[in-house]
Amino acid sequence: MRKIAFGYSTRCNIRCAHCVAAGEKPASTKMELSQAKKIIREMAAAGVGGISFTAGEPLIYFDDILELIDVCSEKNIYTRVVTNSFWAKTPEIALDHAQQLNESGLCQLRLSYSRWHQEHVPAQNVLNAACAAAKSGIDCFVSFVTDFSKEDDSYEQFLRDNRLKFFPEPVIYSGRAEGFGRKSIFTDFQENRCAMNPYLAPDLTMYACCDAGSHFTATSFFELGNLANSSIEDLFAKSENCPLYNCIRSMGITTIASYAGLKSREIITYRKCELCEKLFNNPANLKMIEKAASGALQYWVR
Ligand code: SF4
Ligand code: SF4
Repeated sequence: MRKIAFGYSTRCNIRCAHCVAAGEKPASTKMELSQAKKIIREMAAAGVGGISFTAGEPLIYFDDILELIDVCSEKNIYTRVVTNSFWAKTPEIALDHAQQLNESGLCQLRLSYSRWHQEHVPAQNVLNAACAAAKSGIDCFVSFVTDFSKEDDSYEQFLRDNRLKFFPEPVIYSGRAEGFGRKSIFTDFQENRCAMNPYLAPDLTMYACCDAGSHFTATSFFELGNLANSSIEDLFAKSENCPLYNCIRSMGITTIASYAGLKSREIITYRKCELCEKLFNNPANLKMIEKAASGALQYWVR
């Protein structure tokens, strides 16, 4: 099933110190509502079965997002909204919002939470949003962005104390978090496969991956094209037929890094998106790996 992260707008009401979306130019862009509806209908025709509303803070445009979810519901598209819960100021306000989202057909809420988000939004809002989602029948979980430092222990404890369903997400050292500096880690020698769901930006540029991919500016490796010049079907097909993207999906980034000559000892110091950046945001490296992806790399399997 085709899935996509839908960037209706890059605008956000807060400014998290780790935000990967920072650094976009222009700073804040937004689609026209009618255009977004048309694109969603075209996506349905192209076989898209899941849309995640993300980018900046989608619920700044609450009424517009309700209308977009409505269109998705008509077309049987699974919907998720990623939000910082700024709107869930009290249990009553949160419930009112969640009920409206439920009525429009929203399937899932993903609540972003971290020590950086919570400098701007009280943790209580996240709790209000999660409780309201549960009461309204919307599936919900907390995305706990962390750099795995001790500073985050009390934030994790809050989630545990309130029995919230949460999943840790490693901070991505892109956008504003680039300034944090990369910390070497030592992981297992894991495959690091990536599903690579595309991301549609408000300026209608489509990228083959939704996290750090739009920041690979030295090579534009993940840029698929723009809907002003290409159809949704063509851009999805481009993503699905690219030999190197398919190697990332099937064999994983670790194997590609090993093939490309990175020492095993070095590979285990990188997180997934950082390893991707090292391999694919360097024109000379990328040229060599792209050539291999159509030939020898495909046979680099056990
Ligand atoms: S991380 Fe999310 S909530 Fe924070 S500034 Fe970026 S888009 Fe906004
Ligand atoms: S691992 Fe690579 S392909 Fe996957 S989200 Fe990160 S940058 Fe994109």
